[in-house]
Amino acid sequence: MTALATEGLSRDFGGFRAVAGIDLVLAQGARHAVIGPNGAGKTTLVNLLTGALRPTAGRVRLGGEDVTALSQHARVKRGLARTFQINQLFPEFTPVQAVTLALLEREGLTARWWRPVSAHGAVVAEARALLDSLRFAPAEMRAATRSLPYGRQRLLEIALALALRPRVLLLDEPAAGVPPGESRAVLDAVAALPRDVTVLLIEHDMDLVFRFAERITVLAQGAVLVEGPPAEVARDPRVREVYLGE
Ligand code: ADP
Repeated sequence: MTALATEGLSRDFGGFRAVAGIDLVLAQGARHAVIGPNGAGKTTLVNLLTGALRPTAGRVRLGGEDVTALSQHARVKRGLARTFQINQLFPEFTPVQAVTLALLEREGLTARWWRPVSAHGAVVAEARALLDSLRFAPAEMRAATRSLPYGRQRLLEIALALALRPRVLLLDEPAAGVPPGESRAVLDAVAALPRDVTVLLIEHDMDLVFRFAERITVLAQGAVLVEGPPAEVARDPRVREVYLGE
């Protein structure tokens, strides 16, 4: 089954075609990455997928449904989640508290926030299970978010996106600014998530991409240059050329 697909997706800025007829197909449970040098169209593609930008031409499908005309919010409701840099929001909260609140919000239980989080036992257990699936150690789950290493804070953002129970998780440079040792742990945890979550990673760092992805789409000048499994992409001379020419 296809989790996410684009057909002929294009976006012009004035007379300039930043994204030019991209066809992308992510199977259910995929670990797919989109890479490309600066200016290749990655950010524009992300914005077209989330609905932040309207395409000039082409379609976006989520599951079987054409979502091209839908708002960002409507796409989130249909199971497309992305991460935001939000770790400064609740620096005193523990990861368990932050994820519990996100789960309560998803259930429409925000009106009960005045109750102590510990009153929602089953939801707290669900929050712990979610953090455990991202390899948070018990002590990390109970620590103030601000005291955690930056890589853990970024992973908490991913946990908050997963609290929406998405079918597709869109990660736009999730390891930006994270020290190399920690960034690998972030993506290893995501790769190991249950396969009911399909993951699309947009990333500039080639090492991370080759470690994470089972399929890679290489963009250049707004179009798909190469697509295939990492080993094939790595030895494709066209890929080396666009990266070396950067
Ligand atoms: P990447 O994320 O791969 O670096 P972008 O999607 O940011 O690439 O940009 C692709 C191309 O589209 C670039 O040449 C960029 O200058 C151009 N572009 C992106 N956004 C706009 C915009 N709002 N107006 C005009 N040109 C844009």
